[in-house]
Amino acid sequence: MSANSVKIAINGAAGRMGRALINAALVTPGAKLSAAVDRPNCPELEMDAGSFVGLPASGVELSADLNAALAASEVLVDFTRPEGTITALTACVKAKKAMVIGTTGLTPEQRAKIEAAAKEIPICMAANFSIGVSVTMKLLELAAKTFGNTVDVEIVETHHRHKLDSPSGTALVMGEVVAQATGRNLKDVAIYGREGQVGARARNTIGFSAIRGGDVVGDHTVMFLGEGERLEITHKATSRLNFAQGAIRTAIWLSGRKPGFYSMQEVLGL
Ligand code: NAD
Repeated sequence: MSANSVKIAINGAAGRMGRALINAALVTPGAKLSAAVDRPNCPELEMDAGSFVGLPASGVELSADLNAALAASEVLVDFTRPEGTITALTACVKAKKAMVIGTTGLTPEQRAKIEAAAKEIPICMAANFSIGVSVTMKLLELAAKTFGNTVDVEIVETHHRHKLDSPSGTALVMGEVVAQATGRNLKDVAIYGREGQVGARARNTIGFSAIRGGDVVGDHTVMFLGEGERLEITHKATSRLNFAQGAIRTAIWLSGRKPGFYSMQEVLGL
């Protein structure tokens, strides 16, 4: 780790993503884990963050003191719950620290608060921090623009049996990318599953199919089905580490930036 590594605090450190984020912050060149924060009643408090994730001791203890964490850090990476994100947002604005937000399920009002705070601090928020998914979106745009309305588009996603929503947020963004690139409005053309006498497929529709089972972290395939050929673009997430690596890469990129609301596409230069 070099002397000018970016000092990164993790909020939600004891969670599933928190674990992966601690791991990524400890092993990514250019990053330095400076603090690991979770809720006051969290049983893992006072554990060494490195030992917590099965790595050598890091010298950083899990703590509930968000303000002390921010004082020791340049960027806060937040994967918690919406109320935790908003509390952290207020603290980051006060301390003038950058923020990476991975928490999902925010209300439009909470989102508006985050966008307003981005006038004062640099913020990057994304529903999917996987670098591969960002590249996939770019490939989808290229394929959709090139094929235009000459092919049928179908989106198939597979997730673990505990997932609550369907189709996945990522599948919906994929549908949006294809719809926008071909001048369609997803709301008007989306078909969610098919059953019974559904009739012939209309060319301009975008179909979604969701499979649920086992421990699948997240697979997405977009099919462009034409006459005599078909193109399939697939992304498979095999562990939460891919989201964590994207978020830590984003934290490094965000450090020292001007206040603003940045996207993953900008972070990756796409
Ligand atoms: P989790 O329940 O395993 O962990 C959440 C952690 O946040 C817990 O340790 C909890 O104690 C802590 N927490 C809750 N409220 C808090 C608060 N008010 N202040 C501080 N800490 C608080 O959940 P998870 O699977 O790690 O997911 C966390 C969030 O990240 C969810 O919103 C999930 O949808 C999202 N997520 C985003 C991406 C992405 O790429 N953007 C990927 C995976 C998960």
